Amino acid sequence: MASAGSSSPFLDMSTGTSAGSPAPWQRAATGANLLSPNGDLGVTIFEEMTTLAMSTGSINLGQGFPDEDGPAEIKAAAQEAMASGANQYAPGKGVPALRDAIAAHQGRFYGLNPDPDTEVLVTTGATEAIAATLLALIQPGDEVLTFEPFYDSYGAIIGMAGAKHVTAPLLAPDFMPDLTALEDAFSSRTKVVLLNNPHNPTGAVFPELVLAKIVDLATKYQAIIVSDEVYEHLTFGVAHIPITSLPGAAERTITISSAGKTFSFTGWKIGWLTGPEHLVAAVRTVKQFLTYSSGTPFQSAIAVGLGLPDEFYTGIASTLRNKRDILAEGLRAAGFGVYNPSGTYFINVDTAPLGIRDSVDLARRLPGLVGVAAIPVPVFCHPEGAERTRSLLRFAFCKKTEVLEEAAGRLATLKDRL
Ligand code: PMP
Ligand code: GLN
Repeated sequence: MASAGSSSPFLDMSTGTSAGSPAPWQRAATGANLLSPNGDLGVTIFEEMTTLAMSTGSINLGQGFPDEDGPAEIKAAAQEAMASGANQYAPGKGVPALRDAIAAHQGRFYGLNPDPDTEVLVTTGATEAIAATLLALIQPGDEVLTFEPFYDSYGAIIGMAGAKHVTAPLLAPDFMPDLTALEDAFSSRTKVVLLNNPHNPTGAVFPELVLAKIVDLATKYQAIIVSDEVYEHLTFGVAHIPITSLPGAAERTITISSAGKTFSFTGWKIGWLTGPEHLVAAVRTVKQFLTYSSGTPFQSAIAVGLGLPDEFYTGIASTLRNKRDILAEGLRAAGFGVYNPSGTYFINVDTAPLGIRDSVDLARRLPGLVGVAAIPVPVFCHPEGAERTRSLLRFAFCKKTEVLEEAAGRLATLKDRL
């Protein structure tokens, strides 16, 4: 991996894996300041690639955000809430209508019945839910287990909490864990298993067999399961199973989700978590001192969104599935090896068939070469995992059909420009 001050600064801030240059959270964990040796503040890979996409006028298939707003009735509900004066602090737990709607959603889709008063907490996006949960549950020296590749904020918060980040690999082509390797990654120090299902960046949706193994191991090692399910409604032909619905899981599981993904309002930053009262109370204690509360009118609007009929939910999945197929076809035609995802709005490709071994280098050059931005998968890994995923690149397909078609056309010219 590159070191700070080299020509690939985004590596430093995204994985923190370079031996010579600790990432921002690693410096935070040791009490050092957050400035990198060359005086730059670290930015995430998403910000880095979005900035590059903007400065080159590229189609941004890097950072995962839709290029169309969500349902008009949700927007109207936010405008009404603002107009009617819902503009001061929300209660720390979240506005009652949203907590009720979250509990009802868990009942409608999964047969779960969280108590809206004590087992539901509204957060500033899933990002805050992850941060507050880990800060509440882990102590320096504890181990937190995640799959690898892992979403970037996991590594950051685990580092800030002074805990040890242990990983179990997800390998192409299906990105399922080897259950023996998973078992080996547990230890008596495993405090939290941080699961992401459906999984960013690989697009894997984990079946009951894998989830049951995690529950067994978490029970054996008395670990808490934190399950980030922000893409719960974005699956293609496979059912999403919340791990908390498995026997023995509920008492030790916190489930996290976000309105950003389901309703295409990523900028509103409305997220939530559900779980047993004592765990939710611990997270709430931390959350009070992170943001206390946020987004009062947006919270009311998302309550409306959660009440939309089933057709809305099946509709977003089938629309996205078509988009996946359009981009997958374009990527195949461009010469990449394509791993079709079962969920999320990300598709991973292998750059090796094009003779490119290093996806990090390609991601940096792709906007200049063909006017498309993507995210290299090694940045979601520690050094060993980065080596394993060296030629993988992630594209987001939550974009208008015509934008995906245009991107496919541009990518088709890549072979001739390398
Ligand atoms: N978890 C995962 C797996 C994500 O992909 C994302 C962001 N897209 C988040 C959490 C953060 O969600 P939010 O924008 O609601 O903070
Ligand atoms: N979760 C989005 C992604 O994976 C990005 C969110 C962010 O920019 N932090 O692309």
